[in-house]
Amino acid sequence: MENPEYFDEVLHGDYGQRLKVERVLYRDKTEHQDLIIFENARFGRVMALDGIVQTTEGDEHIYHEMMAHVPILAHGQASRVLIVGGGDGGMAREVLKHKSVEELTMVEIDGGVVDFCREYLPNHNAGAFDDPRFNLVITDGCKFVKETDKRFDVIIIDSTDPIGPGAVLFTEEFYADCKSCLTENGILVTQNGVPAVQGFEVTNSWERMGPHYKDVAFYLATVPTYQGGPMAFGWATDDVTARLLPVAEIEKRFQEADFETRYYTPAVHVAAFALPRYVSDLLV
Ligand code: SAM
Repeated sequence: MENPEYFDEVLHGDYGQRLKVERVLYRDKTEHQDLIIFENARFGRVMALDGIVQTTEGDEHIYHEMMAHVPILAHGQASRVLIVGGGDGGMAREVLKHKSVEELTMVEIDGGVVDFCREYLPNHNAGAFDDPRFNLVITDGCKFVKETDKRFDVIIIDSTDPIGPGAVLFTEEFYADCKSCLTENGILVTQNGVPAVQGFEVTNSWERMGPHYKDVAFYLATVPTYQGGPMAFGWATDDVTARLLPVAEIEKRFQEADFETRYYTPAVHVAAFALPRYVSDLLV
């Protein structure tokens, strides 16, 4: 197969991004998805599934820090965490920075992604896959939450977009099944797309989470290679106080947690829940 000079993202028919391909490190169709890992001068190693950028070495920390530390520090005593998806390992790396986390279960539908990323994106998992607290389950996340008798303090849906195998992770049934896997004050957070170009994902999750959780909200962070502006993260919990903690309390917990970040700060944590009008207008 001829190595492409450029990677053209195909997520939107009328709007896209182009990344120059310096070198293709791996390309293959797994049983679930078409996977490519290549090098780009600006963002380092890039992984794409089915023509859509999943993660890059240059900006993955923004996404993984915000999806891991916001719910775990807001919860305050998270010891059992579930990641659905997360095949590249970046989310596991950030979750396991928390000493309070005693057990991390990662449910990934495509073992091939984990294998490739362990080899070609080693800085993403950075040893998390070998942490004794880490448990990998290769199955559909939708099936797992329906059948497991485990309970989790935080559930992180680090999925692809709602197309292909990821589509089931954006349904009301899935959100309801996640609720049944959460402990009393448990928190669910979800990869919920870029509202400027995928606003329907926020509206859909708002409608589908609403009947099952007392507090549903969204928070934002801008990840350059998730094109179109700030990305939304869904937030759903029955603990209506968790989202309202003052910066000083988050700061105290962050200091106690005692680890380094490159994007996340307690002030950013609290500010991320402030929604611009075009996003809050999607919560109908
Ligand atoms: N950070 C990326 C993003 O925001 O789009 C996603 C990271 S990760 C690569 C997404 C993972 O979700 C992939 O490894 C994919 O195999 C996995 N996935 C997709 N559908 C799934 C499902 N139904 N159950 C479990 N994992 C799934």
